[in-house]
Amino acid sequence: MLSIVPISMIDWPGMVSTVIFFGDCNMKCKHCHNFTELNRPGTRLNKIEVKKEIKDSRMFTDAVVFGGGEPTLNLKDLLDVARYAKILGMKIGVHSNGLDTGAIHYLVNRGIVDKFFIDYKLPTTVDQFRSNSILGVEDYKSLDLSIGYIVKDGIDLEIRTTVFDDVHTAEDIHEIARTVSQKFGRSITYVLQSGRINEKPVITNEELEGLRRLCGEYLDNVIVRTQSGER
Ligand code: SF4
Repeated sequence: MLSIVPISMIDWPGMVSTVIFFGDCNMKCKHCHNFTELNRPGTRLNKIEVKKEIKDSRMFTDAVVFGGGEPTLNLKDLLDVARYAKILGMKIGVHSNGLDTGAIHYLVNRGIVDKFFIDYKLPTTVDQFRSNSILGVEDYKSLDLSIGYIVKDGIDLEIRTTVFDDVHTAEDIHEIARTVSQKFGRSITYVLQSGRINEKPVITNEELEGLRRLCGEYLDNVIVRTQSGER
């Protein structure tokens, strides 16, 4: 585990959470600010330190969120810390790119996760060349399999896309909404948020609003998330 934020209001909207960031990732996204940092060998937090932080913050928090990097790459530590947090009566959230279908299936079967937040970075119909150049992986279709496991089990789920203007077209977002609706139903929660480069959003709130309307053809619960809130 790479680092910990004892108290966060933003990583699980509506909850106060302790957030644990894992190092390492199985993707190499074009706009990832963290990739070098995530894959840098160095000091890691041990489970004793992490559990102590969780316990020390517990009177202010409702949940523990595992993020990254990609937390499903280290299931052993994730499960151990999640079980500890459950004993303290906390909810468990997992942020994931959903690429490791086996890991998602395993977590779903353990019944320990209360909510998944899954990044849907491009349409899963994307060709190998584009997927490789933007996400650093050739096969992105498996994402839908991971989401299918979560939906089938009835676990709370948020799917989200961080939109970058030099990556996404309106057709991409429309296609994501169409695929999600077709495979998992109209009621799935889909969040659109603007990617940031040097702390500046690259897509305006008005543009996000336009994308939200576009997705409304297929999905009933599309949320625009900005720094000032959700709508
Ligand atoms: S999945 Fe997330 S952490 Fe991994 S490379 Fe992409 S943006 Fe970075």
